[in-house]
Amino acid sequence: MTRHRDYVPHGVIPAVLLPFHEDLSIDEASYRAHLRDVASVDGISAITTNAHASEVAACTFDEQRRVLALTQDEIGARLPIVNGIYAESALEGARIAKMAHEGGASALLVFRSAWAKDCYQDRVTREAAMAKLYATEAAQRIIDDAVQILGGRGVMADHPVDLLYRSIRALRIYEGTTEIQHLIIAGMLVAEAKAEEEPSPRGAGSDGGASR
Ligand SMILES: Cc1cc2nc3c(=O)[nH]c(=O)nc-3n(C[C@H](O)[C@H](O)[C@H](O)COP(=O)(O)OP(=O)(O)OC[C@H]3O[C@@H](n4cnc5c(N)ncnc54)[C@H](O)[C@@H]3O)c2cc1C
Repeated sequence: MTRHRDYVPHGVIPAVLLPFHEDLSIDEASYRAHLRDVASVDGISAITTNAHASEVAACTFDEQRRVLALTQDEIGARLPIVNGIYAESALEGARIAKMAHEGGASALLVFRSAWAKDCYQDRVTREAAMAKLYATEAAQRIIDDAVQILGGRGVMADHPVDLLYRSIRALRIYEGTTEIQHLIIAGMLVAEAKAEEEPSPRGAGSDGGASR
């Protein structure tokens, strides 16, 4: 759930630092302590992380996600967080933007079919087929992009993205393959077009007696 939904940026929003161990891994305990310290200062309205002050340029994509997760966990309930989006190149930035918009579009399609079912429609076969088809295909592309952004690390056996990469493939097959969802959607569109072309039978109601 979105926290601090009505927040309008104002006042002082400090960017926090990111401590590292000698081996250059993130010193999570010190980072948490630093977050608590900064967040306790009176008068600040939010905290910025994954910005230049937190050495974002030195962090991998994975580490940036970890930094955001730590920040949310430590102070997210108390203060809004402004999270920088950093990419080594425009190409990588565009990839991250594409991942975000595909994830958002999937959520909207799933929401739409659930809302139609809850509010006004008995059967949502077409809406559900569109949501399943788009969300699983998009998830495959998003995870594939995540592997690409991470390079070799993304295919290491103990990496979460590797697990996602192996898990997502079956979702495009079970509960109706992508091709079958296309056939369902196409069949329903054709049936709808035919129903619109057919003249209303005499004495039928305003919907031509069609019931779906
Ligand atoms: C990990 C996993 C878990 C599963 N879990 C369950 C479960 O819990 N319960 C259960 O009942 N089933 C389960 N299944 C089975 C799953 O539902 C079927 O594998 C799926 O419906 C595809 O059927 P099939 O394997 O017979 O492939 P096929 O129907 O032989 O399809 C093979 C390929 O041909 C394509 N194709 C088939 N017909 C057409 C067509 N008319 N036009 C265009 N392309 C077509 C398909 O899209 C697919 O790409 C699971 C499958 C997997 C992989």
